[in-house]
Formats: sequence, C-alpha cells, structure tokens
Amino acid sequence: MNIILLGAPGAGKGTQASMLAEKYGFLHISTGDIFRANIKGGTEIGKLAKTYIDAGKLVPDSVTCEIVKDRLSKEDAAEGFMLDGFPRNVFQAEQLDSFSKIDFCLNINVPFELLMDRICGRRVCVCGESYHVTALNGRTTCLKCGKELYRRADDNPETVSARLETYLRETEPLIGYYEKQGKLLSVNGNGAPKEVFARICSAIDSRI
Ligand code: ADP
Ligand code: ZN
Repeated sequence: MNIILLGAPGAGKGTQASMLAEKYGFLHISTGDIFRANIKGGTEIGKLAKTYIDAGKLVPDSVTCEIVKDRLSKEDAAEGFMLDGFPRNVFQAEQLDSFSKIDFCLNINVPFELLMDRICGRRVCVCGESYHVTALNGRTTCLKCGKELYRRADDNPETVSARLETYLRETEPLIGYYEKQGKLLSVNGNGAPKEVFARICSAIDSRI
C-alpha cells in the first residue's frame, strides 16, 4: 500500500503518521524529518534546505524529488510506504507519479483558523512525538520517552504565516489533483488525535 498524507502545516500529519505506522506497520517517510536530520548533521543538503525552511518556503523541487526518489528505491519501501510532506506541489506530484504508484491520498482537513495556534503551541521530542502546550499542562518532558521537549525552529509566528501561504498557493491544489485521479480520501481533522485517528482508520479500512 502506497499512501500520501496531505494536509496543511499543523493538520496533524506527523501525529497521525506515527499512530498509523504503529497500527498498520506502514513505513513513514517524512521529507521534513529528512531535511531536519540533514540540518542537524550539517550536510550540504541541510545547509541549503535551512534557508528555505526558515523562510517558510519550499525547498527546491530538484533537491526534494531526488531525495524522495532515492528513499523510495530502498528495499524497505518496496512493501509500501506512507509519505508525509511530499508531494507539496503539482510538479512534485507529477514526478512522484513517474517513479512510483500511489494507491490513495489521505487528506486531513482542519479549519484554517486553528492552524496558527496548533503550530505555535506545538512542542516536539527527538523521538518523534509531538504535543500541544495546552495538553502538556506545564509538563516539559516527553510522555513516551522522558526527554526534554523543544520547539521546532520554524514554529514561530512569522515563519508559520509564510508556511500557511505556501500551503494555500502550492499544496492545496493537490486536493483537486488526487480527486481527479479518484484517489482522494478526505477526513475531518478537527478533534482530539484519537478521534481523528479513528476516522482515518475507517477511511483506510474502506480502501484495503
Ligand atoms: P509542516 O507540515 O508542519 O510544515 P514539515 O516537517 O512537513 O512541516 O516541513 C517543514 C519544512 O520542510 C517545510 O516548510 C519546507 O520548507 C520543507 N519541506 C518539507 N517537505 C517538502 C517538500 N516536499 N518540498 C519542499 N520543501 C519541503
Ligand atoms: Zn520522546
């Protein structure tokens, strides 16, 4: 099963992806995570990506498509994968169609006005978990692994505004792109992570 997770920044793709990976065993591939690992490792790709990520823009397609193509050619991806954060524009979607076969695209829908608060209140852990400050209630460590939580560098109001604009201009048209192919599954992403997860599972179960 080859799946795309689509949704605005803050829609909950990462949170849902880790729950889906656990339940169905899907291989989770996140381009954002790949870029952040490169930034941390000080690679050339990381240096380049950082300038775009800090500005809330997309990393150039040539770089991003190459990374994904390479990742999908690895043996573990042959049994299926779940893409989180790719494609992010129509060009990337067309490229993906040229080197891979997608079964469906799961779109997580969240009212636009909720996104800014969701992202600016987000705290993340090195283990991949993420939380909202309200739910943490003063806690500063990860419930799963105990490590100290932190705020992602691009989760500040200026960068978030730019990311949301980028989403509307470049990524949202993908909803129509996958709808036309008959591959779109849309789920209401407003609610607690567990509620949204239940909706996603029933959508997926209707397809597999
Ligand atoms: P979010 O979905 O919350 O914006 P991600 O971790 O998916 O977070 O992405 C963080 C940043 O990484 C994006 O704002 C963008 O700069 C870059 N990025 C991630 N995926 C892509 C992609 N497919 N194409 C171009 N840039 C990307
Ligand atoms: Zn953790």
